[in-house]
Amino acid sequence: MYGLRTESEHCPDGVTLGADSIFRSRSAKRHKLRLETADLRAPYVLAFVNATDDRKLAEFLSRNGFLDSGLSECPATDLHRQQIVMAHLLERAGSNDPQQIAEAINTTTKLEGAWMRALKGLLKADPDDPEQLAEYHMKIVELGAPPTFTAMDDRGMVFFLCDNLAALMRAEVRLVADRGATFSRCGHCHDGILTGAATGRRGHSRYCSNRCRTAALRARQAAT
Ligand SMILES: [Zn+2]
Repeated sequence: MYGLRTESEHCPDGVTLGADSIFRSRSAKRHKLRLETADLRAPYVLAFVNATDDRKLAEFLSRNGFLDSGLSECPATDLHRQQIVMAHLLERAGSNDPQQIAEAINTTTKLEGAWMRALKGLLKADPDDPEQLAEYHMKIVELGAPPTFTAMDDRGMVFFLCDNLAALMRAEVRLVADRGATFSRCGHCHDGILTGAATGRRGHSRYCSNRCRTAALRARQAAT
């Protein structure tokens, strides 16, 4: 069991979209933020992909900051492109097709993958077996510092520290593949939803919320 974390900042006055199609912080004020993902109940990447209009995207950036910490503005077209890429990766990671899942992992991982495997081996190793522990420790030392992750022990849980929100969301895509979660679209509003293990949703959920389930039922009743 591991979690993901990034240390970031956001503008407490919020983010707004200018007439020049650039999202900007409303002021120079910054608050430090710690973004954490321990399971797939509400991953940042899903909120990002589902921020399908300017108001929702401004809200996402106001709450979580820009994708790269230190940025105080970003053109809307850049963010839209990143949303398309992330949605594409999520669809693949959350498919049931091993080849597509592998592609999603390969795209979001290079060295990170080998490093994570070694660390996960260490986590699963028998704590009373010094030889096993030493073997995984050696592997981690051989691999050197991970490109975007560092592990730390916190409240009994190991967190991977990600460089920024973009790296955190890519790591969440790998978590979707790792936990065998399924990505699909709400039958009413078409928002992306994750179902299955670690998502808090049953595998056969077809709607993102009770509101959408009720709305879809009403629409069906009205049609008959
Ligand atoms: Zn919905």
